[in-house]
Amino acid sequence: MTQTIYLYNTLTRQKEIFKPLNAPHVGMYVCGPTVYGDAHLGHARPAITFDILFRYLQHVGYKVRYVRNITDVGHLEHDADEGEDKIAKKARLEELEPMEVAQYYTNRFHDAMRAMNVLPPSIEPHASGHIMEQEQLVKEIIENGFAYESNGSVYFDVEKYNQKHHYGKLSGRNLNDIINNSRELAGVGEKKNQADFALWKKAQPEHIMRWPSPWSDGFPGWHCECTAMGRKYLGNHFDIHGGGMDLVFPHHECEIAQAVASQGDDMVHYWIHNNMITINGQKMGKSLGNFITLPEFFSGSHEKLEKAYSPMTIRFFILQAHYRSTVDFSNDALQAAEKGLERLMDAWNALQKIVPSKDGNIDVGFAEEIERKCYEAMNDDLNTPIVISHLFDAAKTINIIADKKAGITPEGLEKLLAVFDSFAFGILGLMKNAGTDNAGREEVFGKVVDMLLEQRSRAKAMKDWTTSDAIRDRLMALGFDIKDSKDGSSWKLNK
Ligand code: ZN
Repeated sequence: MTQTIYLYNTLTRQKEIFKPLNAPHVGMYVCGPTVYGDAHLGHARPAITFDILFRYLQHVGYKVRYVRNITDVGHLEHDADEGEDKIAKKARLEELEPMEVAQYYTNRFHDAMRAMNVLPPSIEPHASGHIMEQEQLVKEIIENGFAYESNGSVYFDVEKYNQKHHYGKLSGRNLNDIINNSRELAGVGEKKNQADFALWKKAQPEHIMRWPSPWSDGFPGWHCECTAMGRKYLGNHFDIHGGGMDLVFPHHECEIAQAVASQGDDMVHYWIHNNMITINGQKMGKSLGNFITLPEFFSGSHEKLEKAYSPMTIRFFILQAHYRSTVDFSNDALQAAEKGLERLMDAWNALQKIVPSKDGNIDVGFAEEIERKCYEAMNDDLNTPIVISHLFDAAKTINIIADKKAGITPEGLEKLLAVFDSFAFGILGLMKNAGTDNAGREEVFGKVVDMLLEQRSRAKAMKDWTTSDAIRDRLMALGFDIKDSKDGSSWKLNK
């Protein structure tokens, strides 16, 4: 590998040179979505962050096995201990099979990822398809003395583990803080200690998603799936485990404890976490009414959105911030991202049309300098906003050349095309002609139909029935439903 890449490791709290355990092979595991609802902006960020890492590692020559799971067993409220499985609850309310709900939202998640040009992972294991592996993990932890059975459920014995290892090393907490900050009150019921977490839960009679086990008919605790599936597909020791910062505690902390308690040592070398997205300075949450899903962004159908935003605008918006900084969503910020992306794509389009000249004053050195700076930014913990700023610098020069105020040599042009192509499209994953995106096209398309209906109203006002009927008939033949009322006409496209 010609590039030395620094990545920030949450575990050691510093940037470290990335050295895979088994180069050129790299194992990477990222926590995927829970499929009981549409993905929102908060899901787009880890998907795009780790897509960038996946693309970049491959770009510099690594062979990456990227595993991203689908959580289809369902999380329960409060750290997987109490309450109803959210997938099962949705299934009950909508009279569907739980797996129908999970498949529906998995498909929609894939659609949103494809639209944002997020590459599919190498393996996408489902938690429900790996119950045996999770039971095996629980057995090992019990055998090693770090878990106990209680009333058909199995809990991880945090206090016992902490006597030998450090529970809290990833999140920088100690056990006393964790106990004092626990939401649960003194009565801990089945658990020895309120900090203990479930490895296996006995199912309540009404619980639909359940599997047999040596302990009870039940289901695995939330944290088990990633440890069990990461190990199955990437081995006992692998390079990268990623996810959103909200997963550091308890999810990833518990994963570390489970790995150490079962196999005796750490499983993961680099823990990487993206920061969160706020909406107008507030945390996203259903109760705050600012929980905007990706399909809502793409169609503009949420009251907080002034318009539709294309998947590429969302991608560009996320990449304009470093993955470890917070990002605040607002319509203004997204519209600025949209304009920025358009400017970059305009420069790319202008670059295609430039005719080089042998005596041009801009030579290959210009593109090489942009390339060097882009690599430097990517190697510095994936600093995509800096990469984007270098591409904007290139865009400025491209515009000067396009205006014929400077000239570029044939070698210079060839190199500039190659550098732009590999960073903007290959590594940042933007899509060519992203400026003329679907959202924009749909908006224009809708306006054209409105315009035709205005023509028809005018024809009707003039009692020109031939024209008015012709417009209606032609639109209906194209699949539009036209409704006339006292206030005018409205339309809808039948799929
Ligand atoms: Zn996970």
